Amino acid sequence: MKRTIVGFHLDEEGDWVAELDCGHGQHVRHRPPFVNRPWVVTGAGRAAMLGTTLDCVRCDRMEWPEGLVAYRRTPEFDETTIPGGLRSEHATKRGVWARIRVVSGALHYRVGAPIHRSFRVVPSSDAVIVPEVPHLVEPDGPVRFFVEFSRKEVPTQRVDPRRSGDRDGVRIRGSCDGP
Ligand SMILES: [Zn+2]
Repeated sequence: MKRTIVGFHLDEEGDWVAELDCGHGQHVRHRPPFVNRPWVVTGAGRAAMLGTTLDCVRCDRMEWPEGLVAYRRTPEFDETTIPGGLRSEHATKRGVWARIRVVSGALHYRVGAPIHRSFRVVPSSDAVIVPEVPHLVEPDGPVRFFVEFSRKEVPTQRVDPRRSGDRDGVRIRGSCDGP
């Protein structure tokens, strides 16, 4: 899916990595004549690419980014106390990942566009919620579960100045990660 470039850094080999708003990084190498990105080697070139998008296959694969820190969890819900908002389509905000932790029982977890996958989450599952991707949960009989939210602890050093005030990110059709 498309993710917005919010910064750049050099990796240990001296190759440029674009930092995406999902928390993933993506190499943007300039290796002529096969890979031509002359813009990446100049500060002005990189600055001009902030706010543009790249396809993030790691989000498509629901891959948990490195370096996230858990910052909040919901109360524990059961099949009678689960908020209605979680049972209809909703999404976390920009850059907010979450894990569904089932304590006992089972939960159906349906992920909408562009991922389109369904899971039955049990206590041993690793159920990942991807930022801004619509999803919903439904109890599968008696269940006890909570949701734990994570994001990058320290915002990137080279944020897009047009977005630096936007710390809470965007909302899509409601949000389950609170204020
Ligand atoms: Zn991503």
